[in-house]
Amino acid sequence: MTALNWQKELSREGHRVVFSGQPFTMHCHHYNMNLQKTLEDTLGEEGVQLLFQSAEESNYNIFRHLIDQYNQIKTTKSKLEMAATLFQYCGMGVIHFQTTGPSGGRIVSPSSHHVTGWLAKYGRRHTPGCHFTRGWIAGIMATTYNRPLGEYIVEETSCKMMREPECVFNVTTHKT
Ligand SMILES: [Zn+2]
Repeated sequence: MTALNWQKELSREGHRVVFSGQPFTMHCHHYNMNLQKTLEDTLGEEGVQLLFQSAEESNYNIFRHLIDQYNQIKTTKSKLEMAATLFQYCGMGVIHFQTTGPSGGRIVSPSSHHVTGWLAKYGRRHTPGCHFTRGWIAGIMATTYNRPLGEYIVEETSCKMMREPECVFNVTTHKT
């Protein structure tokens, strides 16, 4: 397990909460799921892309900043371990980078804030719904493999919001 200095990374600057130099907000599932539902209902695919890209970009910046500070985190394996720890500590859930490489991979989440929150508020979906997690994964992959933002395509092939056993993400690049 990668040792992060949480007391240093997580702090307050006046009224702002800051993680690794980046201000952030914390919301419960009522806010997060309502935001997603509103974006999907009003903007459709454009709203889904907005969620994906916001999660990708913000996570890319935070993770890049963290990796630059912790020189001992050098290998791909340790970066992905730190990413999974970050996901868990931030209350997003459990995530496993099962098989990943520069050209993509397979990532599984057996439990997450978004799944629990969506099922509690809106019940079973008929389409995969973990758009935030897809974007989050894209940001981590780009940072870990030193690729630009927008490099990775993340598709969710199985989703617990549809009452499937776990959320499974298939990652490819725009080049393949
Ligand atoms: Zn899902």
